[in-house]
Amino acid sequence: MNLLVLGPQGAGKGTQAKRIAADYNLPHISTGDMFRAAIAAGTELGKRVAPILASGELVPDQLTVALIQDRLGDPDAVGGFILDGFPRNEAQADALDEMLARIGRGLDAILFFDLPDDVATERMLSRAVAEGRADDTPDVIERRLAIYHAETEPIVEHYRATGKLVPLHAELDVDTVYSEVQDALGMVGNR
Ligand code: AMP
Repeated sequence: MNLLVLGPQGAGKGTQAKRIAADYNLPHISTGDMFRAAIAAGTELGKRVAPILASGELVPDQLTVALIQDRLGDPDAVGGFILDGFPRNEAQADALDEMLARIGRGLDAILFFDLPDDVATERMLSRAVAEGRADDTPDVIERRLAIYHAETEPIVEHYRATGKLVPLHAELDVDTVYSEVQDALGMVGNR
């Protein structure tokens, strides 16, 4: 299965994506995690993107698309994947469509975790305390949500047009949302 999770920060998509990855034996491919790993390892990429992540802005498409293109070519992604945090704008969505078309693959489902801003902000602030993420300060959270609405939210329509968008109730508790995910993926499996 080739899956994508979409939604604002704080919607729980990372948590759900990890659970799906474990249960369905798919690699969890998170661009945010990949950038944070590069920063922690002090690589050239890490040095380049560290200030961008700290500010809440988006890393340039060229870098991000190249990173995903490489990662999707890894042997563990041949049987499927779950993408988290990519695409983040229309250009990245187009690039992903092209990448997948070139290798004769397509997305089976786009799981859309929708959430009101006030709930997203509250969840991100409490995560800041739990995880100590550098980009979970109130100013940066506000900026990241603004970028989500301006750049990422429009691609919901890109994916709705495919008929494969699965809207989920991200405001509910983790287990309830996960059972919605399982219902949706059961239907994908039977298609
Ligand atoms: P995340 O963990 O998905 O919230 O990502 C953390 C940060 O990494 C974002 O605020 C961006 O700075 C950067 N980032 C992650 N994914 C992308 C992407 N697809 N395009 C551009 N920047 C990204």
